[in-house]
Amino acid sequence: MLKTVGVSVLFSLHLSACGDGGSSKKGSSQPVPAPVPLNPGSGHIDETQPAAVDLKNHMVFDRHVSETAKAGLTRDFARIERFDLTSGTDNDAVLKAILDVPDLSGGTLSTWLKARVRYMLNPDLSLYRVGLVMSGSRTYQMTQLEGASEEDTRNVAAVMAGTALYSYGKSMRARFPQINYLIVEVNDNWVHINTQRNGVMQLGPALFHPDFMPNASNPESYANTAVRVDTLFHEARHADGNSVSRSLGFMHTLCPRGAGIAPEFVNQLACDDNANGPYTVGARILKAYIQKCGDLCSIGDKTILESFYLDSVSRVVKRSNGQLPNLDATPEKGFDKVDISAFSLIPSQRP
Ligand SMILES: [Zn+2]
Repeated sequence: MLKTVGVSVLFSLHLSACGDGGSSKKGSSQPVPAPVPLNPGSGHIDETQPAAVDLKNHMVFDRHVSETAKAGLTRDFARIERFDLTSGTDNDAVLKAILDVPDLSGGTLSTWLKARVRYMLNPDLSLYRVGLVMSGSRTYQMTQLEGASEEDTRNVAAVMAGTALYSYGKSMRARFPQINYLIVEVNDNWVHINTQRNGVMQLGPALFHPDFMPNASNPESYANTAVRVDTLFHEARHADGNSVSRSLGFMHTLCPRGAGIAPEFVNQLACDDNANGPYTVGARILKAYIQKCGDLCSIGDKTILESFYLDSVSRVVKRSNGQLPNLDATPEKGFDKVDISAFSLIPSQRP
């Protein structure tokens, strides 16, 4: 039975990536595989060359995000921009259809990511000032979001918080017509949560913790980048869909018993019951990265990455009627953005 380090690591990453709190960790006694080059000469990326899409200057790291995460993701973005998945891979037609992109070049994939991800926040949302915009009274009312303890977030890799914040604002607007939507302060600027594509993502400690990396001996390895790319694209997919089609956020479903699902995930919200959700997106991107890895990955790296891939594939499960539909990925229109520059701030009424 395939029950490798990689699978164990992935359980933590992806389960917690969507706010469900994983607990399994890679054992510290695991041997580090010796690096063995594969396909010498392939897979090189010149990270000094200009790229078609500038993710580095698009992404905004909040001051509550660690320097390790900033430096690591900045390096990952440079690789995403330059890693051309159109050759040396299956040039996956299904992935292109799912993402609705013409090709799998680094520029195209970066543009797809850029449309969904921008602001990188701490997993503890209570660190941030949050306001409720009320254009009728030209005010914004401060409010507070629930916090998360270090223990709660220990295994969190990333969370696409923007969609949840948008949904929360939408429900507030439905209950209280004077409310337009939420705003969240990031580095002294207000980010408007008037659409689901507001770009707010939370980064957790697991994203760069050696216990959760396929290659713990070399944090800068491509294998580690590949897993984070899987996570980033998985999370970005949560910014798609709409309420009318009941696909808003591509929310996960409860994992059924059997079907290759590890017992700890049965009845957990850690599966997709559709053919174009986050686990499929992440898995297909990761598969291309594995194929393209070349001598950038050791055999050990590749084995672990393949385990990650197989785990994601196993999380895609048919519905009880045997169907595995494609969901409507069209985003909602959202709400008109309000100019709050002359609005008055009303302090939080909470003690
Ligand atoms: Zn997810």
